[in-house]
Amino acid sequence: MEHYLDNAATTRVCPAAVAAAVAAMENNFGNPSSRHEAGKRAEQTVKSAREVIAKALGADSGEVVFTSCGTESDNWAIRGAVERNRRVGKHIITTAIEHDAVLVPCRQLEQQGYEVTYLQPDKQGNVTAAQVAEALREDTALVSVMLVNNELGTVLPVAEIAKVLRERRSKALLHCDAVQGFLKVPFTVKELGVDLLSISGHKVHAPKGIGALYIRKGVRLPAYLLGGGQEGGLRSGTEPVAQIAAFAAAVEEGMKNFAAEQAHLTDLKAYTLARMNELLPNAKRVGNGEAPHVLAITLPGYKSEVVVRFLSGRGVYVSSGSACHKGKPSHVFAALKLDKKQLDGVLRVSFCGDNTKEDVDALMEGLVQAGQQLFTSLS
Ligand code: PLP
Repeated sequence: MEHYLDNAATTRVCPAAVAAAVAAMENNFGNPSSRHEAGKRAEQTVKSAREVIAKALGADSGEVVFTSCGTESDNWAIRGAVERNRRVGKHIITTAIEHDAVLVPCRQLEQQGYEVTYLQPDKQGNVTAAQVAEALREDTALVSVMLVNNELGTVLPVAEIAKVLRERRSKALLHCDAVQGFLKVPFTVKELGVDLLSISGHKVHAPKGIGALYIRKGVRLPAYLLGGGQEGGLRSGTEPVAQIAAFAAAVEEGMKNFAAEQAHLTDLKAYTLARMNELLPNAKRVGNGEAPHVLAITLPGYKSEVVVRFLSGRGVYVSSGSACHKGKPSHVFAALKLDKKQLDGVLRVSFCGDNTKEDVDALMEGLVQAGQQLFTSLS
């Protein structure tokens, strides 16, 4: 039996999304740009899907552009925003705990003469709006702050940051990477007050290969892909109708189950912490992430890579940090200034609505065994 507790890396595609994708591939294979009936049906599928995603975000459907993934949405938002605001200046504010999909484009912009302020988190992984207020300058063209950190589950104060920008009459565009926040914590784009917001399908039980970027009406971002003029001319390329249909189906499910799932995830996270305190006296929580689906812990004295492999051998899947790091120490945990033993022992456990207490029990059993079998070889 497998216990999948790595839902921040990716999620299982839900049955509704599979059914929507199969239906689109089998019966609705037309090109949405074709003017015959088959094309119009595909176009209608894309239109309805856009409405579903827009509704879930509290946006108008004209403000949602489909992309291939969260990374693309982040890259486009960042490069597009600084290009749009090139007359404002060459200063960017972001945080040291963003995903690489934000940090790497920022570093590239530094090579091109931009100055980037990376706000440092406190020991718990929080960043404040006051830090943004302090860093904000006349020439700040972009502020990019994630909604939920993928490794700690901390919820960043995006709405308060938007308020700071409004109060200071800043010309900076505000981008939010909401890849880990979407359908996990309640928000609308209006409540957050953002100009740009990234989401990704595979984190919410849709297939990989589909994401979206919210672009607030009135923000004229330069086109990302040039060609046939799809997606309002902003992102050309024939629309992946099956992925789009599946994304919408998964989002509809996620919206329908939102309240119940929040309660379930909150419960599971509390249960995990309680079991951990009971069974693993040396283990510690890392950060105080409030998002219900992500929990970071550390087993000081253990190498997390070794523990991840040990657990995997028992059918329990967790992560040693962001899956994107592939074994490199995570910049997020490094930013918390954990000592080396704690840093080496960090594990990320991430839940979805399908997880049960049995999954957590299997994890705990695996960790207790790891404690007995691995410690002597590592201490
Ligand atoms: N942003 C955050 C916070 C993420 O967690 C991820 C994926 O782990 C991404 C961006 C990238 O999304 P995608 O895998 O869809 O490219």
